[in-house]
Amino acid sequence: MESHDLDIAIAGGGLAGGLTALALHFRCPDLKIALFECGEKIGGHHRWSWFDSDLSPAGRALMSAFDTASWPAYDVRFPKYERTLGSRYNSLASADFDRAIRQELPAAAIRTGTKVVSVDEGGITLADQQRITAGAVVDCRGAEIGTGLEGGWQVFLGRHLRCEHPHGVRRPIIMDANVAQHGAYRFVYVLPLSDTDLFIEDTYYADEPVLDRAVLAKRIDAYCEARSWRGETMDEETGVLPVISGGDASALAGSSPTPENGFGGVALGGIRGGFTHPLTSYTLPFAVENAIAITRSAGMPGVHMAEMMAQRSADHWRRTGFYRLLGRMLFGAALPEQRHIVFQHFYRLPQALIERFYAGRSTALDKARILSGRPPVPVKRALHALVTPGTPLSGSHEPKRTAA
Ligand SMILES: Cc1cc2nc3c(=O)[nH]c(=O)nc-3n(C[C@H](O)[C@H](O)[C@H](O)COP(=O)(O)OP(=O)(O)OC[C@H]3O[C@@H](n4cnc5c(N)ncnc54)[C@H](O)[C@@H]3O)c2cc1C
Repeated sequence: MESHDLDIAIAGGGLAGGLTALALHFRCPDLKIALFECGEKIGGHHRWSWFDSDLSPAGRALMSAFDTASWPAYDVRFPKYERTLGSRYNSLASADFDRAIRQELPAAAIRTGTKVVSVDEGGITLADQQRITAGAVVDCRGAEIGTGLEGGWQVFLGRHLRCEHPHGVRRPIIMDANVAQHGAYRFVYVLPLSDTDLFIEDTYYADEPVLDRAVLAKRIDAYCEARSWRGETMDEETGVLPVISGGDASALAGSSPTPENGFGGVALGGIRGGFTHPLTSYTLPFAVENAIAITRSAGMPGVHMAEMMAQRSADHWRRTGFYRLLGRMLFGAALPEQRHIVFQHFYRLPQALIERFYAGRSTALDKARILSGRPPVPVKRALHALVTPGTPLSGSHEPKRTAA
């Protein structure tokens, strides 16, 4: 049998790469694996949230390795509708993700500060030209948005605020759309991390990938001031995420091997492999289930693992077509200031349907219910949006962040 430096090399120690390494370590502790991350931290600088109902029992068991915040219910607030939903919601800070992975994996399996310049069926090449051979390669280096995708953007600034006094928020508010819309679908997202700590995020479904940090920070200031939440900013994070309404998933794979060459024997994971919810931009549920699937093919030659992940990616793209269609309606048919009506309409639907929607598992009946009733967008504009290609996500639409 051919001998390799590693059984499995994982390029990119973000959410998907970290989960894959952890799942492999738990299920196949004798395998020689390593996670190669160009940054100094595993998981970067994010907070990830998800519903219990997004995950299988095995997925929930994997996520129990982390210290998470968790709540039995959450609220949504719109101008004409408010609701509390009883779905368990969880949130994980990347610092806790990094800590748990370092605690569980052997130190030799974590190669932070290590840039991967290329991947192929037989291994990876590092920036210092070192070649590391591997029986299988999983590429989780995040998205590089190329040409061929259509849609809009989810743009946000999140702040961890330590209040001087208890804030009194009992449950997460996943969407508070009772705020000025500012030419997009805008809502504020609030997580009560403790009696005094809040995570407050100002989010936009916008046509342009522009994040003006100073403007968003002022809007969070105003939201907090109106509720007398005063205190110290502990941390801030930003995001400019694609909301995909059409095109071709392989545009996310950047320089990785492509579907045309059967992914060149390399398994693609995370957003790079197209594993994102087109409308919410969440990837965690899919990254968790992929990590578990990879453990099941861990003993196979890398080319089989690559084929398995390519098949999962194609299935995911096919299964999520409905959400891309909704994205076309959201960006193409609803006027920016009226996009909140689409969500207000959606949140009146049964809780189980909403759970399946977030998990990317809507049934045919769910889809019919989401589209039925008094349409939240004008029918003529909706029909036009369905037959017209969406706005390209690449080229002149490179994400732009402006400094504070
Ligand atoms: C601020 C923010 C908040 C988010 N919140 C949520 C949420 O609540 N729930 C949810 O499901 N999704 C959320 N998302 C969306 C999505 O889940 C995340 O972007 C997620 O981190 C994507 O996982 P990934 O592993 O595909 O990519 P990433 O987590 O971005 O990981 C890619 C990793 O590869 C590394 N890398 C890149 N190039 C190289 C290289 N050449 N060599 C070595 N390493 C390399 C990067 O440094 C990075 O660590 C959020 C995104 C952001 C930005």
